[in-house]
Amino acid sequence: MNYLQLPKIDLHCHLDGSVRPQTVIDLAKIQGVSIPSHNVDDIKALMVAPESCPNLDEYLTRFALPVSVMQTESALERISFELFEDAALENVKYLEVRFGPQLHRKQGLNFEQIIASVVKGMRRAEALYDIKGNYILSIIKVLPKDDINEVIDAGAKFLDKGVVAFDLAASEEPGFCHEYIPYAKYALDKGYRITIHAGEQGVGQNVYDAISLLGAERIGHGIHINNHKDAYELVRAEAVALEACPSSNVQTKAVESIESHPLGEFYRDGLLVTINTDNRTVSDTTMTKELQLAVEKFNLSEQDYFKIYKISAENSFASNEVKQSLLKYIG
Ligand SMILES: [Zn+2]
Repeated sequence: MNYLQLPKIDLHCHLDGSVRPQTVIDLAKIQGVSIPSHNVDDIKALMVAPESCPNLDEYLTRFALPVSVMQTESALERISFELFEDAALENVKYLEVRFGPQLHRKQGLNFEQIIASVVKGMRRAEALYDIKGNYILSIIKVLPKDDINEVIDAGAKFLDKGVVAFDLAASEEPGFCHEYIPYAKYALDKGYRITIHAGEQGVGQNVYDAISLLGAERIGHGIHINNHKDAYELVRAEAVALEACPSSNVQTKAVESIESHPLGEFYRDGLLVTINTDNRTVSDTTMTKELQLAVEKFNLSEQDYFKIYKISAENSFASNEVKQSLLKYIG
């Protein structure tokens, strides 16, 4: 299989976890931001998480450095463009990027400016390369909740114009969904689609709650439904797609090892699984690498991969027109 040439779809990719190390250095210079080194290898070492972190929180510390230079419109626009460019160059045909607008206000940008900037970068890449994309707005659960509706309102102006969905991200506590019911409802009423990080570190019950209480159509990771029968059955019954991110799941200890990742079993049991990067820089990965890893470790044929690609296309938040165009790449 020529992994690089195969068409790909990435539905779970974080903007701040996918910044080029050299860009952090360039932007720090432009913005006068102090960073620990101007050597690209040093900066990359600070951004990439070790192959196995003690836990998700340790993994999440890797985002502080890129976020420090993601506070201006031009920086956000550039980083968005570069992410779509990197993806296009490895034949990713459709990319849904998520990010937390609440993290980018340190220099006074408002939510509308923040969202407009990343959409602008994506549009510039779409015009140059054979790739399409959309943005997902991630609410960062460790931050105060008082501006969540403001994020939703700002993003609503971009719905179907570059923004498609609402997400909850950051470390996962048992039962977290209960606190976010009014916000998810507010987003749904405005016309957002819903995907929620759940069952990554935490319990399968969080996946059940994300679907039943928050209206999630897709689940970020969802690995831990393998020990929660009700969540597993609900995922199947509601045809909820799971956004698997194999390398990241090993790094954050969501699974013991790649061999114990349930993606292969889920796929063979008919669940809607997709393969994604999570964070291209923090996990030091690409879609090409994740695809190769999944094919080799889970014994997938090319036909299996095309089925997974089709699941990704059909469960993306793209327009019907874009979905049709994505299916053409696999004949
Ligand atoms: Zn994620």
